[in-house]
Amino acid sequence: MTYKIKQSKIVTSFKCIGAECSNNCCQNWQMQLDVTRANNYLKDPLLSDSITKKDNQYVMKHDANNYCVKLESGRCGVHAKYGENFLGDACYFYPRIVRKLGNQNIMSATLSCPEVTRILLENEAGYELEDTDIARIPIVCKDYLPAELTEDAALLIHNYFIEHILQSQDKDSVSLLSEIITVSKSLDSIAKSSWIDAVPFLLETASTRIIPAKIEANDPFNIINALMLVIHSSKLNNNILNEVLATIAESLEITIDQKNLTIQYGPNSIELYGKLMNDSLGEGALRKYLYAQIASNLFPFAGLGASLYNKISIISLKFVTIRLALACHNKSDEVKVIHSISRLYDHLQSDELLTSIFNDLNWANESRLLGLVRALAI
Ligand code: SF4
Repeated sequence: MTYKIKQSKIVTSFKCIGAECSNNCCQNWQMQLDVTRANNYLKDPLLSDSITKKDNQYVMKHDANNYCVKLESGRCGVHAKYGENFLGDACYFYPRIVRKLGNQNIMSATLSCPEVTRILLENEAGYELEDTDIARIPIVCKDYLPAELTEDAALLIHNYFIEHILQSQDKDSVSLLSEIITVSKSLDSIAKSSWIDAVPFLLETASTRIIPAKIEANDPFNIINALMLVIHSSKLNNNILNEVLATIAESLEITIDQKNLTIQYGPNSIELYGKLMNDSLGEGALRKYLYAQIASNLFPFAGLGASLYNKISIISLKFVTIRLALACHNKSDEVKVIHSISRLYDHLQSDELLTSIFNDLNWANESRLLGLVRALAI
């Protein structure tokens, strides 16, 4: 049996590089198995000891270094011996993401995999959708189609946002994101049944309706504080992300205390930040990052956040965190920066913590959110 699907070209181009991977996904993560596949493991004497139950859910066990116990010489031992179909959904599909709009299955890929990020940044493939057939879809596959829209209408609306980014070559990524924030705020007050007419008009006129941004000097440190809070709450202990954090600290002459979640900044820190942001050469990567976020989140339909404004706020926080980190690194580190921060932010299960951060820092306010995104006037 096969399933009809719309698949991003980046998925077609992707091939896991296994032992060559700089940040193997078999480390640190809970790889979940559904009951049927878990029973297959339990029936096999060579595999029964490789899974356990956590929070009422079967997951792969980890070794002392937090790697999956079935990772052998950088490759998946279960895949090698039993074939990929034996794997649970988490291992079978990663880094692919399958979402539904009604009966339409749509597959894209997450930038939390360094190889996916490399393919995107090196222009080998993007997120354009093409029709294909696949052999398996995930057991849990959330449908994001609003009741007021047809599948075709939802895909068209999604495509308006994608085309706006791809075709506005005269605008930088900050202007594009500011426009999408403005459009999102407007769409929240318009019935979804009207979005198909409203979105093209709102996108076309967005630049004339952006409200003044309110910039605060402390925002760069607030971004780092938010990053530390999210690392702390997710309990993700990833060496590559720690290296990225250490380089940010060194570049801005700040001291980060991850245990007590505090930052001490020095007399030159704000000036250093302003200089790094002005010198930043990361625009090409940021533009692709914004495109990937809008595409892989099936924007304005999937992704974390109750309202559309919440969704674009969360994308904005990810964008500014990656921009700050890129400004502190060399161009050769772009894959490292983008995939490691995506590994944290793109796998949050809930927006609860982010919502409280947004409320505490007043980023829920549209002027402040635009100020966070603009940032450069410091
Ligand atoms: S992170 Fe990506 S390239 Fe690396 S091992 Fe996992 S799927 Fe393969």
